Amino acid sequence: MDKHVNLNVKCIKCGKSLMDHQKMINNMPSIALNISHKDKTGKIWLCSNYGCYQHEKNIEVPDKEIVNFYCPHCEELLNSDIKCKSCEAPIVKFNIYIGGVVSICSRKGCNNHYVMFEDLSTAISKFHRAYGM
Ligand SMILES: [Zn+2]
Ligand SMILES: [Zn+2]
Repeated sequence: MDKHVNLNVKCIKCGKSLMDHQKMINNMPSIALNISHKDKTGKIWLCSNYGCYQHEKNIEVPDKEIVNFYCPHCEELLNSDIKCKSCEAPIVKFNIYIGGVVSICSRKGCNNHYVMFEDLSTAISKFHRAYGM
């Protein structure tokens, strides 16, 4: 598959775009979210490349800690009741514009802490239809 599948995602609660065109990672708009850990709050920018681990944030979070993710528009908590298969931390979900869901693990340093499709085959076939890949 194409390693450079670029995701365009929106909030599962309010439907507004989470893409930050001011903050580029790997030359693409990043996925911007508000985060909190204990008494600290900040922002995180995730690479929008499917399968990419890269991200930037403006607060320090120790490894293995769970981070709360919030929509920057509606400020709803995006950590869901669904648990990560590797570490049981809450999974954070986003809707993809063309359909489908991506999810990341909310625990720092977890292997699931990157952009991934919930249903890879469905999502990939939608990409093929949408972009003619
Ligand atoms: Zn929202
Ligand atoms: Zn995890």
